[in-house]
Amino acid sequence: MGEGLKVSGHPLEASALPLPTRREDLLARLTEPQVWDLVVVGGGATGLGVALQAAREGLKVALLEARDFAQGTSSRSTKLVHGGVRYLAQGHWPLVREALHERRGLLERAPHLAQPLAFVMPTYRWGEQAFYGAGLKLYECLAASASLGPTRFLSAQTTQASLPGVRWEGLRGGVQYWDGQFDDARLALALARTAAREGACVINRVSVQHLLYENGRVAGVCAQDAEQSLTFELKAACVINATGVWVDGLRLTDGCQQEQGVDRLVTPSQGVHLVVDASFWPGDKALLVPKTADGRVLFVVPWLGKVLLGTTDTARPDAPIEPRPASEEVDLILKEAAGYLKKVPSRRDVLSAWAGLRPLVRTDASSSASAGLTRKISREHHIEVSSSGLVTVTGGKWTTYRFMAQDVMKQARRKAGLKPALRVLANDAPLIGAPAAHEWRHQLTGPAGVHLYGAEQEWLGGLPGAQVELALGLTEAMVRFAARYEYARSVEDVLARRSRCLFLDATLAKSLAPKVAQILREELGLDPQLSAFEALADQYAQCP
Ligand SMILES: Cc1cc2nc3c(=O)[nH]c(=O)nc-3n(C[C@H](O)[C@H](O)[C@H](O)COP(=O)(O)OP(=O)(O)OC[C@H]3O[C@@H](n4cnc5c(N)ncnc54)[C@H](O)[C@@H]3O)c2cc1C
Repeated sequence: MGEGLKVSGHPLEASALPLPTRREDLLARLTEPQVWDLVVVGGGATGLGVALQAAREGLKVALLEARDFAQGTSSRSTKLVHGGVRYLAQGHWPLVREALHERRGLLERAPHLAQPLAFVMPTYRWGEQAFYGAGLKLYECLAASASLGPTRFLSAQTTQASLPGVRWEGLRGGVQYWDGQFDDARLALALARTAAREGACVINRVSVQHLLYENGRVAGVCAQDAEQSLTFELKAACVINATGVWVDGLRLTDGCQQEQGVDRLVTPSQGVHLVVDASFWPGDKALLVPKTADGRVLFVVPWLGKVLLGTTDTARPDAPIEPRPASEEVDLILKEAAGYLKKVPSRRDVLSAWAGLRPLVRTDASSSASAGLTRKISREHHIEVSSSGLVTVTGGKWTTYRFMAQDVMKQARRKAGLKPALRVLANDAPLIGAPAAHEWRHQLTGPAGVHLYGAEQEWLGGLPGAQVELALGLTEAMVRFAARYEYARSVEDVLARRSRCLFLDATLAKSLAPKVAQILREELGLDPQLSAFEALADQYAQCP
C-alpha cells in the first residue's frame, strides 16, 4: 500500500442486502409514465459518474447502456489511477494537480478496487535519472497532501532489487514514484450499483435510437431493449450524451434536427495491451518507459496475477465496437518491452491481446456551430451544450470521472433549470463494497479472488457454489452474484467484466464458458450467448 492512505468517512453498511437487478423490474420502472430529471446515454465511466452524481443530488435519473456497462473503452484502460505524468511536460500543471486529487479520492472511495502502486523508471543513460527524476519530484509536489508516497532516486543495485525482471546490462539507476491501479470494469459496476442504490434507474442492453423534441428542445429519448426489441420513450428535462467515442452519432442527428451543420468532435485513437504470465515481470512494482521509439510512454504493470504491457496510439476513425490490435501495434509493444525485460516475451507468450479507443477531442471543434462550449479544461474532458439543450461530454480519463460528472451537472443544472435536493449526499462517500475500515491488505497486483468484493464478501459466502472455484479466483457463487446483483446477462458479461478472465487469459476463459453458461441459464432462464463468447475469446487469444 502507499504511505498514509486513509479511508474517508461514511462507511457503507457492510451488511446492506445487495439490490437485485431483475430486468423485468428495471424495464417496468423505466417505462412508467413520468418525466425524468436526467436521462444519461452511455454506461461507461463518464455516464455512470454523471448518474451517480445526479442521484446523490437527489435528481430522478435513468441511465441507458446499449451493450454492457464498461463494454466500450472503460474496460480496456491501462488500469492506472493517475495524474498523468506526461501532461507535466506539456505544462498542464493545474490539470495534473486536479487529477492527482481525484486519484487520492478514488483510492479512498473504493480501496478494494483501486490501490496505490509503486512505479519504477530504470535509467540507462547519463543524465536520465536527474532529468526524469526532477519531473517526478514535481509530480509528487503537485499532489501535495494527496501524495501517495515519496519519489525516490534509486541506485542501480536498488533498482535491480525493486524490479527483479528488469534488464540489468547498462543499468545506471532508477526513479521510484507512486500512482494507483484499479479494476476498471468492476469499478464501473460499483458506480452503477451505487447509483442504483441511491435511486437511479440504471440498465444495460437498452440503446437510445433517437432524441425526442418539444418546441425545438430535447425532451427525451426513444430507446430500444436489445433483448426483446421493445421500443419505448422516456421524457426528460435534460439528456446527457456520454457515449464515449460514439458521441458524434447523437450530436449529428441533433444537428440535423436543428438544421445546423455540426462538426465531428471526436477522433478515436486505439490503444493496445498484451497480457503475459507473471514470470515475465516478477514482483509487485510497475515499470515506466518514459519515451518509446514513437514518443509514447510504455507501462509494464502487474495486475490480477498477470502482467499488462501497453499501450499504443493509433488513429481509428471507424470506431468499431470490438477493435482488434494491429500486427504493427503488437510488434511495437513487444519490441519496446524487449529493451527492458530480462525474460523477453514473444507472440506465443501472449495470453490475451485487446484494444480500446480513446475519445480524443478534436482541437478544431471549438469552431463548431454548437453553442455553449466549455473549454476550461478542454485538454482533458470536453462538454458541449447544443442549441436544443443536448449535453455532450467526452474525453478526459477514468481517474477524473467524478470531476467530469460535477462539471456536467453544473451545465445540466444551468441549462435545464434542475435543482438539487435540499439534502444532497456527499460525492466522496464510499462506493458499494468499500470495506468499512482501512484494514485492506489485498493487492490488485495479486491474483483475483473474493477480496475484490470487499464488504460484500459475506453475501457471496451465502450463495450456492461459494466453495466451487472455476479458475482465476472465479467461483460458481460469483457467477450467481453477477446474474442476481450485477446486471450480467451473458457469458461475456461475466467472463469479460464481472471476472476479468477474458482480459487475463482468453484460452482459459473459453474453457470456462460452458460452465458459466449453464449457471446463467439456471439463474436467468435465457440464452447466455455461449458461442458468441467462444468466438470472441478466440480473437483475444490470437495475437496478430
Ligand atoms: C488504451 C487506453 C488506455 C487508457 N488508460 C487509462 C488509464 O490507465 N487511466 C485512466 O484514468 N484512463 C485511461 N484511459 C481513458 C479512459 O479509459 C476513458 O477516458 C474512459 O473509459 C472513457 O469512458 P466513457 O464513458 O467516456 O466511454 P465508454 O467507456 O466507451 O462508454 C460509452 C458507452 O456508451 C455506450 N453507447 C454508445 N452509443 C449508445 C447509445 N446510442 N445508447 C446507449 N448507449 C450507447 C457504449 O456502449 C459505451 O459503453 C485509457 C483509454 C484507452 C483507450
